[in-house]
Amino acid sequence: MWKIKDSSVQLSTSSKKFLDELSKLLSFNITVTDGYRTARQQAVQMAETIQEQIFAGQGETLTDVYSDSQLANAIQAEFPDTEKMAIVIEQNADNGRYISRHLINDAFDIRTTGGTENQLNESQIDIVIDRANSIGLKTVIERDHIHVEVLDNWVIVDEKKSNLLWLVAIGIGVALWTTS
Ligand SMILES: [Zn+2]
Repeated sequence: MWKIKDSSVQLSTSSKKFLDELSKLLSFNITVTDGYRTARQQAVQMAETIQEQIFAGQGETLTDVYSDSQLANAIQAEFPDTEKMAIVIEQNADNGRYISRHLINDAFDIRTTGGTENQLNESQIDIVIDRANSIGLKTVIERDHIHVEVLDNWVIVDEKKSNLLWLVAIGIGVALWTTS
């Protein structure tokens, strides 16, 4: 079984489908703490990470956290102004460059620590990662959660299928119209 932390967590249809598949392979419950994020929510999240890193004395860079280190640096350059950080995130997203797949609703987070319910212990974390990877999900361990990314091809397969159905429906419609 899986559940969302609270009603603020928004998940795409494909994320839900993956969570259904994943939870079938688990003997314990999992809690999803995050799904879709707006540019502003992403900016706040990144600002918190920067702050935590500063406080933890681990340097001040997001390059270790985000694969697009160049864009991460450009966003970090606006810290602590989260509004300006959000603008950089949004402008890049408009050009198809996403600092996080949460922005396109293709990622979700599973709680490991820091919550009250359905926290996972070390062996459960290993099991979640192993099972998620076994059904083709990409996972990254972050501070208090497992970040999970939905693969493009699953989504594309679904879209292709529905597009094909539409084409067939339109084709039948045209055939009926031209023959009537
Ligand atoms: Zn995440």
